[in-house]
Amino acid sequence: MARKPRITIDWSQWDDQLGKTTDKELSEKIGSSLAAVSMRRKKLGIAASGERGARTRIDWSDWDALLGTVEDKVLAEKVGCSLASVVLRRKKLGIPAHNQRKSVDWKLWDDLIPDMADSELSKKIGCAPGSVRVRREKLGIPKYDGDLRKKVDWTRWESKIGVVDDKDLALLIGCTVGAIVAHKKKIGVGILSEKEKVKRSSIGDVWEKWDHMLGRCPDDVLAEAMGVTRSKVGVRRMRLVIANYPLDWPEDGKPCLGGCGKALTNDDPEQTNCGSEVCLAKLKEIS
Ligand SMILES: [Zn+2]
Repeated sequence: MARKPRITIDWSQWDDQLGKTTDKELSEKIGSSLAAVSMRRKKLGIAASGERGARTRIDWSDWDALLGTVEDKVLAEKVGCSLASVVLRRKKLGIPAHNQRKSVDWKLWDDLIPDMADSELSKKIGCAPGSVRVRREKLGIPKYDGDLRKKVDWTRWESKIGVVDDKDLALLIGCTVGAIVAHKKKIGVGILSEKEKVKRSSIGDVWEKWDHMLGRCPDDVLAEAMGVTRSKVGVRRMRLVIANYPLDWPEDGKPCLGGCGKALTNDDPEQTNCGSEVCLAKLKEIS
């Protein structure tokens, strides 16, 4: 039988088939000698197809996340397979070996964790997806969920971002803390000084008691009741997209602070509301 000419075999194309078909079948596919295939297979410690004790298929879904996060040898022991199986699988997924990687400088990457899928970020970093997961869990950042993030209408929550605690806000919005962190980063909030935070939160508090009055009386009437400038009221009203009070307002009329839109025209300075149940309830709620 004529000897087959020596060829250089690109094993990266064939390694994962070793042991799955017979050496003979594989050698025919490659166009190499049978011996070349057998040698390669033995070198990687893979049992021949059909051989007694040939490895059972490994369910990598349980293990892929660990590839590259520990030494291949360590993982092989955990899986209960050969070192070669781990190496092959790792290479197939393009994950660098644990000891070939420089340790990741997370300071450079932490900010991106809430913004991206682990697998996506790991590609950027050049590390194993499992490493990102481990880091993410260490920081208590929930798994990135692109869909969940898309649903958030951030304009609605703008005034609360950086004022309300992220965790509480996440509950309010119904999104992940990570999504808020990412959005803050995007709009540059979260770098507020303590002074600025207090200022913001106090503004928020003031409006919590007055927002329901916007558009329920003329801006200047509300401004007077609040003790602020008319333009402050106008700006707030427009920001919340509330129409101006459409009717005439009686001279010297005070607004019902319950927000029903009624004007109080008597001279009793103690009276703050029209006395309706709805308005009394509202006043109780905001007091
Ligand atoms: Zn009222």
